[in-house]
Order: sequence, then C-alpha cells, then structure tokens
Amino acid sequence: MSKKTLGSKNWKPSTLAIHGSGRLPKPYYAVSTPIVQTSNYYFDTADEVEDFMRAKGQGKVLREHEYARYGNPTQTETERKLAAIEGAERAVLYSSGMAAVLLVIMTYMKPEGHIIFTGDCYRQTRDFATNFLGKFGIGYSIVDPTAEAIEKAIKPNTNIIFTESPTNPYLRVLDIPAIVKVAKKRKIMTIIDATLATPYNIKPIEMGVDVVIHSATKYLGGHNDLMAGVALGSAELMTALYKMQRMIGATPGPLTCFLLERGLKTFGMRMEHHNKAGLAVAKMLEAHPKIEKVWYPALKSHPDHKIGKKQMKGFGSVISFLVKGGNRETRKFIDALELFLITPRVLLHRCGLCPSSTILKNSARK
Ligand code: PLP
Repeated sequence: MSKKTLGSKNWKPSTLAIHGSGRLPKPYYAVSTPIVQTSNYYFDTADEVEDFMRAKGQGKVLREHEYARYGNPTQTETERKLAAIEGAERAVLYSSGMAAVLLVIMTYMKPEGHIIFTGDCYRQTRDFATNFLGKFGIGYSIVDPTAEAIEKAIKPNTNIIFTESPTNPYLRVLDIPAIVKVAKKRKIMTIIDATLATPYNIKPIEMGVDVVIHSATKYLGGHNDLMAGVALGSAELMTALYKMQRMIGATPGPLTCFLLERGLKTFGMRMEHHNKAGLAVAKMLEAHPKIEKVWYPALKSHPDHKIGKKQMKGFGSVISFLVKGGNRETRKFIDALELFLITPRVLLHRCGLCPSSTILKNSARK
C-alpha cells in the first residue's frame, strides 16, 4: 500500500471530484478504487477483536470496516470525494435519494415536533409528509417556496425546515441565506435537497444550511446506471445519520459506489456542458412559436431569476415547459422526439451529456 499522500485546499470541483481532498494509500497501488465485494471482514485473533471493540467503545476507529451493512471501502472513498466536492466535513451514502431523504428526516425528527416543507418539492417527499409523518406524531406544513411563507409557518415546536432548490418540476430557487437567517434565529435545523443544483452549481453549506441531500441517481452518477443518495454536513450531524444508517442498512453496494465514483471523474465537465446546453435549449424553447411557457431560472421570465443568478453558477439541463395546445398536441410532441427517451419523470437524452427535459402534463389542463 502506498504511503504517499497529497492534497490541496485550492482544488476546484472538477479536481476534487477526481482526487477528493487528498491522495489516500490505495490497496495494491490500484489507481481506481477496488470493488470490495464481501459481506463481512475478518480479524486474525481474539485479541484483535477485543482491541477493536474496546477502541470502538472509546469512540476510536482502529479499522473502518467490519460488516457490509455498516458500509464498504468503495463507499467510504466515494463519501470522501462527495464531501470534498460539497465542502462538507462528512458524507453518508444511501441506496437511493429517497432513502437519504427519509432517513435524514427520521434521524432528526422529534416527538411532537413540526416540520416545514416547501411545496413543489419531489412528490415522494411530499407523500412521506402527508401519508407517514402523522403516524409518528409529527406535525407538518407544506408552504410556498419562499422565505416569507416559511417564516409564517413556524410554530413553537418546529424543529426542521426541509427545502428543495431548485424544486422539481418548476425549478423554483429558494432564497437560502434568508431561510437560514430565519431558521438560525429560532434554532431550527435546515435541510436542503439540492439534487437539481448539484455542488457544482450551489454550495448550501457555505450559506449556513445544516444538511444537504442529493439524489446521486441524477447528475452525480450521470450515466443512468445506478441509484444512490447522499447526505452531507458536519461530522457531528453525520455521525447521527450514520448510526441510523448502520441499523437500517440502506447502504449502496460496492458496485454502485464504484460506478458513482467513476461517474464523478467527469462531474465537472458534465456539469459545465449541462449548464451551457440547458441554457441554449431553454432559450430555443422560449422563442419557439409552439411552446407556451418555459420554466428555467436563467431566463428572465422565471419567477426566481434574480435569486437564482445571485446564488447559482448555472442551472443544469432540467427544463420544464408547456407545449401550446392540450393533451393531443403534447402527445404528438412527445411521440415526435427522436433523441429523447420517454422515462417515468424525465425524458433523458441518449448520449447522457445533452439536456434532459421535463414535459409538464398538458393533460392536467384538459
Ligand atoms: N429529490 C429530487 C429533487 C428528485 O428529483 C428525486 C428523484 O427524481 C429524488 C429526490 C429521489 O431520488 P431517488 O430516485 O434516487 O430515490
């Protein structure tokens, strides 16, 4: 195993996505992180087990891995890289974005507490609030995605503000510093699902957000071949998440982590292209006579254009738009697409580097 370590605080996202915050010793001097496909890890002697358990009791880590539900080495390396890109102390990886959303909420929710969600967030997150939180005795409010609406909804027992920015599907951009200010004044935890922004386009931790979540299934993975989620924040907050994760085991397998880490190597380049291509397509759609409306924060017509420009480096390639006409015209448009694939929520371009788009259901209007 190599003992040489390198690292720089000045590295930018593309470099961090490849190297993390430094070079770690690699088994067998392998350049890529090996897939360690094992359910458990052995000790040589009973003494070793005893030393390991004693150290663990004292909060010391003699070795990182003992059982696959608690994590695997490929996952640890990928978590280090994700934390470096996000500028967080630590990351915890999950088997999906929704596993991350639910387990983060379940770890920090309090008996008889109250959670504020911003509307127009990912539907399954809203479904969790409306269908399940009540069963745990937790109250919730779903409000407009603005700092004013959030402030108005705060109750004496509110302990979490859960936001999404940009939102799915209308790409509403929240005024994060304003929300953090409101939350900090009342000692309320802030959690943001920044999947559609990625750490390339926004840095919520620098703005004072406590926990950032991403569905790594999307831009971070980048190749439509894996499912994963990640939560990022301070070492203290992540330790609480990790304790829950160890119990439940919504842990991504080593192959998933390998694919995610490999996908990260092109993260910077892909995001740069998504930002450019997304803007070009959004402008083209807005100028098109057969398109009624486009939602893309880089466009002046978007309600959060000013906030978006202030907070974000770019806006990726998820674009929401309405085709002029009704259900019939929208179906005709979808079926005429040559490159885009029709998938459950988004139509993804085959080459993976070109824009994806969300087609709002015109059928809802008729
Ligand atoms: N958050 C957002 C904003 C999403 O768009 C999605 C999925 O589309 C999720 C969370 C859930 O992620 P996953 O599908 O990886 O569980």
